[in-house]
Amino acid sequence: MASKIKKIAVLTSGGDSPGMNAAIRSVVRTCAYMKVECVAVYRGYQGMIEGDFENMNARSVNNIINKGGTILKSARCEEFRTPEGRKKAHEQLIAAGIDAFVVIGGDGSFRGAMIFHEEFGFPVIGIPGTIDNDIFGTRYTVGFDTALNTVVDAIDKIRDTASSHNRLFFVEVMGRDVGHIALNAGVGAGAEEILIPELNLGLERLLESLKRSKISGKSSSIVVVAEGDKTGKNVFQLKEYVEEHLPIYDVRVSVLGHIQRGGTPSCFDRVLASRMGVKAVETLLEGKSNLMVGIMDSKITLTPISQAIKGHTKIDKELIRVCDIMST
Ligand code: ADP
Repeated sequence: MASKIKKIAVLTSGGDSPGMNAAIRSVVRTCAYMKVECVAVYRGYQGMIEGDFENMNARSVNNIINKGGTILKSARCEEFRTPEGRKKAHEQLIAAGIDAFVVIGGDGSFRGAMIFHEEFGFPVIGIPGTIDNDIFGTRYTVGFDTALNTVVDAIDKIRDTASSHNRLFFVEVMGRDVGHIALNAGVGAGAEEILIPELNLGLERLLESLKRSKISGKSSSIVVVAEGDKTGKNVFQLKEYVEEHLPIYDVRVSVLGHIQRGGTPSCFDRVLASRMGVKAVETLLEGKSNLMVGIMDSKITLTPISQAIKGHTKIDKELIRVCDIMST
């Protein structure tokens, strides 16, 4: 039976991440391959409400696979949180003859898509695009791997100056609720300690560990701190605390900030985004909806959006153990 879906929209929403363009490209090219029309929605749900659409073809997405950010722009849209806003968005989609949409974004964007689907029975599929890797139902989100490489590269550079001056550096990385970036990049960059929201080491243990580090002959140290870590109030308070209690250390702070979101997507993120885009379109054409595409054990999977937004990703305990052993 021929699919009822003849025109698919694609949008990026919420926080941007490297690899979103590769996902857009994949959705557009898969539509072209499947002979389905494709429409780009600019500025996330805001553009949907305003009807900021553009018809896409396979050539519209030339030379974007290697670009960071999102060519469609992303936005946060308060109006979409209201029934009136969503009604306007629905009217725009219907007026443009759009039958379904693929949203590339984080859990907020998925929540919006799920509510939209429940209200209008409109087919939606989510592709997880966020550097935080905090979406349940996928081992990796698009952008996480690139962010890790950016953080490791930055810490390598900080280490050069740290070791030249025998300094201790606190490096703050993104992760308000989850420590995936801190833990993975911390192990990859050889950090002495990694502080994440999931585990409160306590200030005492941190001091003990830094003392041991000094005694064992290390001349410089890197401590990676996730934004949401609760050991101290923030990274600057950690600095003050250590300076007060361990004056042997010359302490510096580096907050990596938004450089973590940008940059050329890694090969891993490009391949992941390409695979997810194909699956998103195929799934809609099979008549399925309200699902998020993910990856588990190297296989592309589908998870109900309702589960993806409610579940919690777990930090890798084995990696914490590896970190402990490596900091000997
Ligand atoms: P992310 O997708 O990166 O988690 P946000 O949480 O900011 O980013 O969500 C992106 C957008 O998704 C919001 O600006 C809003 O338009 C929409 N959204 C988020 N939560 C809801 C909700 N509960 N109901 C409707 N729309 C929502």
